[in-house]
Amino acid sequence: MATITLPEVETKETKKSTTKYVYSFGGGKADGNGKMKDVLGGKGAGLAEMTNAGLPVPPGFTIQTEACREYMRTNSTSKEVERQMDEALAKLETLQGQKLGVGENPLLVSVRSGAKFSMPGMMDTILNLGLNDKSVEALAKVKNNPRFAYDSYRRLIQMFGNVVLDIEKPVFDEIFDAKKKQRKTKFDTGLDAKALQEVIAEYKKAVKKHAKRDFPQDPREQLVMARDAVFRSWQNDRAKTYRRINSIDEMLGTAVNVQIMVYGNLNDTSGTGVGFTRNPATGIKEFYGEFLLNAQGEDVVSGVRTPVPILELQKIMPEVYDQLREITTRLEKHYKDMQDFEFTIQDGKLHMLQTRNGKRTGLAAVQVAIQMVEEGLITKEEAIFRLDPGQVVDFLVARLDEKDVKPGDLLTAKGLPASPGAVVGQIVFTADDAVEKAGHGAEKNPVILVRAETTPEDIHGMEVAVGILTSQGGMTSHAAVVTRGMGKACVAGAQEIAVLEKLQELRVAGQVFKEGDWITLDGTTGRVFKGKKHLLPPDPENLAKLAQFMSWAEPYRKMRVRANADVPRDAEKAREYGAEGIGLCRTEHMFFGEKKIGPMREMILADNEKGRRAALKKLLPLQRADFAGVFKAMDGLPVTIRTLDPPLHEFLPRREDLMVDIALLSSYSSKEKKDLVKKYRDYGVEGAGDLKKALPLLLARVEQLHEFNPMLGHRGCRLGITYPEITEMQARAIFEAAVDCTKKGIKVLPEVMIPLVATVKEMANQGAIVRRVADEVFKERGTKVEYMVGTMIELPRAALVAGEIAKEAEFFSFGTNDLTQTTFGFSRDDINKVLPTYLAEGILKQDPFAALDQEGVGQLVRMATERGRKTRPTLKVGICGEHGGEPSSVEFCYKTGLNYVSCSPFRVLTARLAAAQAAATETLKVEGGRTK
Ligand code: ADP
Ligand code: MG
Ligand code: MG
Repeated sequence: MATITLPEVETKETKKSTTKYVYSFGGGKADGNGKMKDVLGGKGAGLAEMTNAGLPVPPGFTIQTEACREYMRTNSTSKEVERQMDEALAKLETLQGQKLGVGENPLLVSVRSGAKFSMPGMMDTILNLGLNDKSVEALAKVKNNPRFAYDSYRRLIQMFGNVVLDIEKPVFDEIFDAKKKQRKTKFDTGLDAKALQEVIAEYKKAVKKHAKRDFPQDPREQLVMARDAVFRSWQNDRAKTYRRINSIDEMLGTAVNVQIMVYGNLNDTSGTGVGFTRNPATGIKEFYGEFLLNAQGEDVVSGVRTPVPILELQKIMPEVYDQLREITTRLEKHYKDMQDFEFTIQDGKLHMLQTRNGKRTGLAAVQVAIQMVEEGLITKEEAIFRLDPGQVVDFLVARLDEKDVKPGDLLTAKGLPASPGAVVGQIVFTADDAVEKAGHGAEKNPVILVRAETTPEDIHGMEVAVGILTSQGGMTSHAAVVTRGMGKACVAGAQEIAVLEKLQELRVAGQVFKEGDWITLDGTTGRVFKGKKHLLPPDPENLAKLAQFMSWAEPYRKMRVRANADVPRDAEKAREYGAEGIGLCRTEHMFFGEKKIGPMREMILADNEKGRRAALKKLLPLQRADFAGVFKAMDGLPVTIRTLDPPLHEFLPRREDLMVDIALLSSYSSKEKKDLVKKYRDYGVEGAGDLKKALPLLLARVEQLHEFNPMLGHRGCRLGITYPEITEMQARAIFEAAVDCTKKGIKVLPEVMIPLVATVKEMANQGAIVRRVADEVFKERGTKVEYMVGTMIELPRAALVAGEIAKEAEFFSFGTNDLTQTTFGFSRDDINKVLPTYLAEGILKQDPFAALDQEGVGQLVRMATERGRKTRPTLKVGICGEHGGEPSSVEFCYKTGLNYVSCSPFRVLTARLAAAQAAATETLKVEGGRTK
């Protein structure tokens, strides 16, 4: 059948100017090839490449992504696309010697989505297309297997009904489940031909009822409708969410692959499976996957029956197994990367349906990269792109403390270790509940999403949960694949647990758990425990592998990476992860220490300079000791210290609390009064007798300090300008500590940073104070220390007049949190009220507080850098916002010519890798070889 040579005329006749919309593959050759992912999508490119390599791929054709983009623009498919499709179909029919859905041996096809970047399960696929009331009889006859024919037909109506006619899945599931119950069988395979015919009759009724039309009997109409539905599936909500999370361009569109069906559900020498050439969780080199006999399409990952480990295939069909191993090994060598493949066996014959670079955990990514370098498959230069910087966290995730594990707490040990890391959280049963209960900002709450199985509809809940637990599905199930991509702990297919979704209950080991109950998941081993278990830091062996990997990437890095750390402990941690300095040391956090908060509050409550100075005097030695600690930890590296920034009332009690306490004071018992004394001790209340006088005074001061919009209020350099004695004290503490450390042989490089500057005069005012105090201290102590004074750029005005400000500032550090707030006018703490809608509507592509808005805020960063350096060519420029640890923002900072990024200690490694990859891409002149 594959020997027919194709007539060349058709392609020659096509005018050169018309777009080639349809690419055929089959009979040993393909119009396209593996490099054409933009045009053919990943799946189409893979099918073409495999066909060209002579692998057993069912023939077909790919309608390219441009047709989808046109469909998005015009809501229709052009005549030219129709024409080329008909032409390709005719060619396929000739090749097969069959006709789509007609004749004694009808041709059936699958209609499969496939975009440039794989989006597992996000878009739609329809199988067995071409079947109708007539061709199903022909199929039954020609295969001599009515059960198979009706099974295929019911699947078509089900998929077509759902994907094309928008009928909800449960409509069909209910009919199917009822039939299984009636026939007293647990599995789909337990239904005979007659039962399936009854199912089909009911399915057709359901279609009529819900779609207000009959299931289309005309094969070509089916094909056209399915094609357009696949185009539309690019725009469905779950696909949109997936693209947002994975930063995939909305405009790419999907290709449509039309491919002749091979039947894994034909009989017991048929089946379907999926696999990986290496273990996607650990990276270990082992053949890995699952299959099901007498099954079709997604049965294997959907949990309808429990799949069989792929190694079993060796016993059941040794020849097929050997061929599959040989093919997938070849594919891995060819693509030089771990492959994730799909196959179907029909009557003992193997067919390859898909291959792509497999998604994997960070641990696996590094393990595979190192192995492949050792095997000589890839170079070290290629290897450094094989880890997504965001996945570095996998190495830093918690492990379960085995000492805290009591046998009675183990609920099951038989879950699959789908995605590593241990997490503790509260149970939720739906994605919506996960979103609701997970909270945000300071009120974040760890939730674990528990489901029989996750589906692409759950993606929003999976995003906010700390971990996922499922009772069904295998290592290649949706939950497993998606969580591995997210770097989130997952235990999948824990069959000993029962998830009763309607009752919102988790039952296991004779116990019942409800929403809100605490459990612990260990995604590294597949165990589930009741209650909160103690967690331990990451595995040193894995960290050693990461270190080896980083040693290949690091030489390319040109931009520095610092950390944000306020206390010596964090500074030490940052240094451990390779931070090359502190980019932001926030002094206010130091005031929250035990002994410090008292004098701090005293300082704030003082209503004159004298009182303030007295309190500041008490603070001076405390701050000096803090700075000395950080300097010591960062010996030899620069430390950027920001002067006091937040509005003062953050250090005072809440106005409402005070009002209540004052109103109720006379009715309080002596015990309650004692508690009040404790509560207000730091505000000068010494005994119960003081309360009556002290509280109203305190309230008066709180009201004085009250602001309608504290974020834009009396804060930042405005504090230091209105109360210069604060800046003086802080500068003194910094320089005294610096001199003391220097005398002890510690190399100190302080950079004093003035926050929230909008005008050059503010900078000049504060800079003068810092420099004067520095001179005083150096004179007093007889030692000088090199230092710098600079500013944070966090207001649009500062970015605009950066050229002026650079006259006074020796360095800039972009405070991109505030800069994002003030550029968008979004409050970071309140954006969650609008963000979900904005993302859903596509008004924003990403949370601008998570990934730097390169278009807007980024423009200010670029402009301020250019203008600042024009004035002062040696200007040191960095960024210290949350964005400093986010890979796409890091890349942007590198391209903009920043000297460093600074981020939380935990993200230093991520930033280092992102910066190294950005520079390596340039040096090696490669298009970043990251797998998406
Ligand atoms: P996804 O992108 O979600 O993986 P696919 O297009 O790969 O979707 O198809 C879904 C399932 O249907 C897969 O298991 C695939 O192997 C199977 N399938 C697709 N086309 C065919 C075909 N022509 N014959 C048999 N099975 C097919
Ligand atoms: Mg699918
Ligand atoms: Mg697939």
